[in-house]
Amino acid sequence: MEEVDHLAHERSKAQFDVDAMKVVWAGSKHALDVSDRMARLVASDPVFRKDDRTMLGRKELFKNTLRKAAHAWKRVHELRLTEEEASMLRLFLDEPSYVDLHWGMFVPAIKGQGTDEQQKKWLPLAYKMQIIGCYAQTELGHGSNVQGLETTATFDPKTDEFIIHSPTLTSSKWVAWWFGKNFYTCSCLCSFDHGWKGPWHKWFHSPVTKFG
Ligand SMILES: Cc1cc2nc3c(=O)[nH]c(=O)nc-3n(C[C@H](O)[C@H](O)[C@H](O)COP(=O)(O)OP(=O)(O)OC[C@H]3O[C@@H](n4cnc5c(N)ncnc54)[C@H](O)[C@@H]3O)c2cc1C
Repeated sequence: MEEVDHLAHERSKAQFDVDAMKVVWAGSKHALDVSDRMARLVASDPVFRKDDRTMLGRKELFKNTLRKAAHAWKRVHELRLTEEEASMLRLFLDEPSYVDLHWGMFVPAIKGQGTDEQQKKWLPLAYKMQIIGCYAQTELGHGSNVQGLETTATFDPKTDEFIIHSPTLTSSKWVAWWFGKNFYTCSCLCSFDHGWKGPWHKWFHSPVTKFG
């Protein structure tokens, strides 16, 4: 079927400088350049096609989303894209997948809250996607009200470990995207129990499925 650009005529009637507006909209000339290059990259790659999306069944759509996410990762490495470019490329994929949580929440949680030692250990694995992470903040009874989280992390001096416990139905971790289906690891937000003098809430990084 021949493609028709219904907007071209309207766009041609704009009474302002469209190119200058694009820079304002993107935030800077650099941001526009990155956005433009990544948009072209996605549009020109048949693996990233979107025109069949509404025709696919649930299972096929799921598989196709995984295929695209894996292909995106491959292209990011082949082309040695920067973090900024990679994030823009994923934006243009426009298909929420298991890697969105990995890149959008899990990696930033390690970068923002991990010690140097933890970052050194986990970030290379996360960047190579040898671990894939999600995050579990929300609970059945606690969304925006993070102060109210009921899941606790209690230090057990006997085993030198933290015991993570959701004691009630309302404390069940909820809406953790793709949890257990595609993830190896999870950042879990808990309140400290008993005697802890540091920040009240803390992320715990924990395996949820067998690694390897
Ligand atoms: C698509 C999707 C994916 C998600 N993925 C994840 C995930 O991977 N991991 C995870 O942990 N969570 C995830 N969440 C959950 C998300 O973090 C929660 O939806 C969010 O924390 C808001 O909580 P809630 O939906 O229970 O809304 P509520 O907290 O019940 O809020 C309802 C409304 O009340 C307003 N409100 C709340 N508190 C106040 C206040 N004190 N004053 C004024 N107004 C207030 C809010 O703005 C909102 O309009 C996901 C949610 C969605 C929709």
